[in-house]
Amino acid sequence: MYQADDQPDFDAITQLLEPESLESTSFQNELRCGRDILAELGTLSDLIDTLDKDGLTGADDAVVEAAPVSEHPEVHALAELRRVATDPCVVCGCPTARAEADIEDLSEQLVTCEGCGLGTLFPIPDAQRIQSFYPPAYYGSPDAKFEPLVEFGVRAGARFRVKRLAGSLPRGARVLDVGCGRGVMLRALLDLGYEAHGVEISTEAAAGADPRATVHIAPDLTQAALPDQFFDAVILWHVLEHLPHPDRVLAELHRILKPGGRLILAVPNYASWQARLMKSHWFHLDLPRPLYHFTPRTLKRLLQQSGFRCRSLRHFALLQNPFGWLQSLLNRFTSTPRNALYTLLHQSSEAVDASGLTARQRLTLRAAYWLGLPVAGLLSVVEAMFRAGGTMAVVAERSVVTGPSRRCHQPSTPTGRETRRSPAKSR
Ligand SMILES: [Zn+2]
Repeated sequence: MYQADDQPDFDAITQLLEPESLESTSFQNELRCGRDILAELGTLSDLIDTLDKDGLTGADDAVVEAAPVSEHPEVHALAELRRVATDPCVVCGCPTARAEADIEDLSEQLVTCEGCGLGTLFPIPDAQRIQSFYPPAYYGSPDAKFEPLVEFGVRAGARFRVKRLAGSLPRGARVLDVGCGRGVMLRALLDLGYEAHGVEISTEAAAGADPRATVHIAPDLTQAALPDQFFDAVILWHVLEHLPHPDRVLAELHRILKPGGRLILAVPNYASWQARLMKSHWFHLDLPRPLYHFTPRTLKRLLQQSGFRCRSLRHFALLQNPFGWLQSLLNRFTSTPRNALYTLLHQSSEAVDASGLTARQRLTLRAAYWLGLPVAGLLSVVEAMFRAGGTMAVVAERSVVTGPSRRCHQPSTPTGRETRRSPAKSR
C-alpha cells in the first residue's frame, strides 16, 4: 500500500533539470499539482488503513450466525394471484413469475416462471443461506439414513437404478456421481465394476463413502478441477434442482464428459399429477431445498441449450413416486406435521423426537405406510402411463461437437401437457 512518507524527493529531481525550465510558470504549476495529488493519495492511504484496523473491510471474514431453519417448514398457498419481477429465468430468460406459496418463517417464496412454467425459489438464496437449509440430520448417519428395512430398499433401489440406466456402459467405464452424499450410488457403481468418482460439498456427508471410490470434496462442481472429457457417464440423482446455477453446472458437465458421454439425471416433476393435485402439500416440493422445480419441457429445453440430446425420459421411480403420493396425501388430509412419515422413517431418533409426534400419531403413520403403499404404487403406475410421474429420470447424450448454446431470452407461452395449474393455487 502506498504511504505518504514514500513521496519522491522533488527537490532532488528538480536539481537534475535545466534552470530555465524550472523557472517556467507551466512547470511550477505542474509541480504544485503533482504534490497536491500525492498528498491526497497519502490521506486516502491513511483512511484505508484505519478502516482495515476497524475491521470494516474484513466483513467477509466475520462469522455470521444463520438462524436455524426447520427441516420441513409448512408451505402456505397464496390465495391471490400475484405477479413478481424476478431475475431472468434460467431456462427461457423471462423476467416475471407468478407467486405461488409462502414458506413458514422464510422470506423466500415459490414462484412459477410465466414464460416456461419452471418453478423457482425466489429470490435464489446465497451459498451461506443455502447451506443453512441442510442441517446435519438431513444427511443421516454415514451408514444409514433410514430405518433398516427402508435403508435396504434404498440401497437395492440404487443398484437397480445403476444397472438399468448405466448398464450398457462397458465394465471399467469411468462414472461420476455429482452430490454423492454418503455414497449409496458409488457403492452400486463399484459393485457393478465401474470406476466410481464422486463430488460432494459436505465432508461429513461423504464420510461413509466406500474407500474404493474417489471422492472430491468441493464447494461446487466447477471448483473440483476435473479434467476435460474425462468421464464416460455422469449421474445427478435429485441434485440439479438443488443447485443455484443449473445452466453453469450442465456447461461444466459438457466439458468433463467425453463426446457421446452419458448424462443420467433425475428430478421431481413439477407438472406431475401428484404435484398438480396435491399443490402446496406435494411431498417433493421439499421447500426450501430445491431451488428449481422442472417440468419435462423445461428440463429438456435446458439440456438442449447446454449441448445435450435427451435420449429417454422415464416417469416411474419405485422409491420416490409411490412415497410422494403417500406423504402428499397425509400432508393434505391429516393433521400430522408436514412430511411426518418421512421424518418417522429417518434413522435419526433426535429428529423423530423433535417432531413432537405422539405415540398414537406414530402408530397411525406406520399403519398408513404399510397399508397405503400398494394404493400409492398403483397411482404411480397410472400417472407414469400418462407420462406425468411424480419424479422423472432422463438419460441424455453429450453432443460430439456442439457446446452450450446461448439462451433465447424471449418468454414463450407454455403449451400442451406442460400447461399446468399452479401446484399451490387452491387446496
Ligand atoms: Zn422460464
